[in-house]
Amino acid sequence: MNNSKVFVGLGSNMGDRLENIRFALMELANHPEIDVIKSSEVYESEPVGYTAQPFFFNAVLELETKLDPWELLDFTQELENLAGRERTFRWGPRSLDIDILFFGDLVLKEPRLVIPHPEIARRRFVLEPLVEIWRDARFPDGRLVSEALEDVSLDQVVWRVGDL
Ligand code: ADP
Ligand code: MG
Repeated sequence: MNNSKVFVGLGSNMGDRLENIRFALMELANHPEIDVIKSSEVYESEPVGYTAQPFFFNAVLELETKLDPWELLDFTQELENLAGRERTFRWGPRSLDIDILFFGDLVLKEPRLVIPHPEIARRRFVLEPLVEIWRDARFPDGRLVSEALEDVSLDQVVWRVGDL
């Protein structure tokens, strides 16, 4: 089986946010069937949706893996748990969130796994780091991800804080 080119989004707004993001990077890199190809810088972002919570740190990674999407999801959820994530409520504060953004050109709509991640185009904290490491990214309908970045509201405050 060929390797798939995968993009994941990392987020943290509890505890040592940079440490949590770096933990995810290290553990993904240490997995025998995952290679980390690229990492974006770290961005800080104002929470969207439920706004009464701390600011987030975010980053996006490009991976290559032989795992299938379900195996990757199992592993990333295990990492969320290891980072001490308690599942409070959707969009609530979390020490580590790992979202699978793209998995090759796979399109999947299952209860536990939707690919591409349905919120990409609405979230500046995903679009900024994604376009940083993958300029020519396109959605399955052919639309450039960089166009979604131009269209997303600048009210969503996102800025670079430095290297991962
Ligand atoms: P959110 O990231 O939207 O705030 P959670 O991280 O709490 O929400 O995830 C809720 C559920 O979303 C997970 O249990 C997972 O099964 C599901 N899910 C669906 N699609 C994806 C995806 N592409 N990446 C990660 N989780 C996903
Ligand atoms: Mg998530």
